[in-house]
Amino acid sequence: MAGIYLHIPYCNTKCIYCDFYSITNHSTKVDMIDCLIKEIESKAIELKDKKFDTIFFGGGTPSLLLPSDLNKLFNVLYSNLNISSDSEISIEANPGTMNRKKLESFKELPINRISFGVQSFNNADLKFLTRIHSGRQAIDSIKEAQDAGFNNINLDLIFALPGQSLKGWEKNLETAVKLNTQHVSAYSLIFEEGTPLIKLYKLGKVRPADEEKERKMYDFTMAFFEEYGFNHYEISNYAKPGYECRHNLKYWMHKEYISFGPSAASYINDYRWVNVRDVNEYIKRIKSGTMAYDFIEYIDYDKSIDEYIMLGLRSTGIDINILRERYKIDFFSKYKSAAELLIKNNLAELKADTFYLTSKGYAVCDEILATYF
Ligand code: SF4
Repeated sequence: MAGIYLHIPYCNTKCIYCDFYSITNHSTKVDMIDCLIKEIESKAIELKDKKFDTIFFGGGTPSLLLPSDLNKLFNVLYSNLNISSDSEISIEANPGTMNRKKLESFKELPINRISFGVQSFNNADLKFLTRIHSGRQAIDSIKEAQDAGFNNINLDLIFALPGQSLKGWEKNLETAVKLNTQHVSAYSLIFEEGTPLIKLYKLGKVRPADEEKERKMYDFTMAFFEEYGFNHYEISNYAKPGYECRHNLKYWMHKEYISFGPSAASYINDYRWVNVRDVNEYIKRIKSGTMAYDFIEYIDYDKSIDEYIMLGLRSTGIDINILRERYKIDFFSKYKSAAELLIKNNLAELKADTFYLTSKGYAVCDEILATYF
């Protein structure tokens, strides 16, 4: 089954580290939603043989949408696409845009998973990251979501912030597990090109955490979540058993997904395409009946196998049956010596026909990929 992604490109302010496509001028919102609806309708025939079991509202800040906007989108999704009744339906939420009433309204929609962009519970960290909420607001939002009946909640955290101590990071993790959410994504801070953060770095105004400290924080995170019974199922993602994000697993397991909205990427029938980034250009194209994509590429055998191995080793592993049936590769002849060496050094395991990295292996995943695959 395939996944559905909708990109909602509006935020209240732009965080200094963020390179996702999002804008703070909301004047195009009504038009953009109409265009999302048109784009979904325009794909209905092409997708009539596909079945979907995940929907993900990402952004930007999709929690800025009104429940009535989301309701319109659900109506058009369910009437045009073949969506399974037990689908995982996620929405990203910024704690600075949530309140009890909104969460209760979201609960009345088909949404069954909320992913909170918390990043830190420490107000100094949040100020540095230019987030619009406090640590207290993040805690309150998660508790309100639980009170509203949500029992599949993720929170995103960022570590290796300039000046952040290991103790400070540990405190964030302790606060996270006390909230008893089912999933945590813990990313290190990346200095992305084109962001205000990298400009500050180039001006010498901020210094990234040193590599050794970052590695210590990552090692601590892995051990911490293991102790609390989380499954480390992707380099940066930890879930209570059964709560792994089914939508993100589509990306990581090289499965199909269709996406709608500006800058959204799709992968269907061996083609990958990415919509234009600019919301005005997106609206113009959809209104005039022109295709919204900026580029499209055919994923041939070589690209597909590279992606399958790279994504698999970063997450749930390589299924040796898929390797044989889809790619005509015998895992044991092609990767025997690499696999034996990695298993011997506790960097990988082979169980139930799946070859996957251990937590120790995740920590050096890039080196493993570059050296052996
Ligand atoms: S709220 Fe999220 S999408 Fe919006 S600017 Fe901040 S990090 Fe980016």
